[in-house]
Amino acid sequence: MRRKLIAGNWKMNGSFASNEALLSDLRAGLGSDVACEVLVCAPAPYLMQCADLLSDSDIAWGAQDVSVHISGAYTGEVSAAMLADCSCSYVIIGHSERRAYHGELNELVAQKTLRALASGLKPIVCVGETLEQRESGLTNAVVRAQLQAVLDVIEADALADLVVAYEPVWAIGTGKTATPQMAQEVHAVLRQQLALKNVTSAANVRILYGGSMKPDNAQELLAMPDIDGGLIGGAALKAADFLAIVRAA
Ligand code: PEP
Repeated sequence: MRRKLIAGNWKMNGSFASNEALLSDLRAGLGSDVACEVLVCAPAPYLMQCADLLSDSDIAWGAQDVSVHISGAYTGEVSAAMLADCSCSYVIIGHSERRAYHGELNELVAQKTLRALASGLKPIVCVGETLEQRESGLTNAVVRAQLQAVLDVIEADALADLVVAYEPVWAIGTGKTATPQMAQEVHAVLRQQLALKNVTSAANVRILYGGSMKPDNAQELLAMPDIDGGLIGGAALKAADFLAIVRAA
């Protein structure tokens, strides 16, 4: 049985003051018997604030990107070891915004995944098609190629730490959501592909859905057999919305 994971992606939002208010509301609202795993992925300057405010809570924290380099003269980069130093549990890799605005290709995403795993971080590898690709019937081919690049470089036993997020690009931040059936179809394709690497471990890999998940659509998405949680953007910035999604999981 896969424990669901509800992960907030704060993107480039927040401040010490607003994060403190959000995290305090999340802690207060979460209670003690949370069925799913809860995670917030904060901008790098706020990871230690998350560590300070969440270390005695049931909420984990993580980053939104990681450098492909180990250390050295890479101005502005943040290494996997540094994220581990901030006690991050997870790191988002290959988000469509990184792919679109920073030219991240499948091979780079795969190498970043290796770096994260080597530092003990659990990578949340994002895959997803654009609207044009979907309308051309390329959805499965695109997400398969994105996932395969990662599967080609990791060891089979690393599946135990891998999380995949299916995020149709046309649904991110747009208010448009894949129907539960559309999302389930792609999740099943991804699960089959994971099984080619290792059947037993593939059954335990969490595949999250992301793309305008909100309190009013979370329950039906999360009810699908291969949807094991959500990667939440906009709704993760509002405690009431994020908590409602956590409760739906
Ligand atoms: C995201 O950024 O990963 C995301 C899913 O955003 P939103 O929920 O705002 O669509």
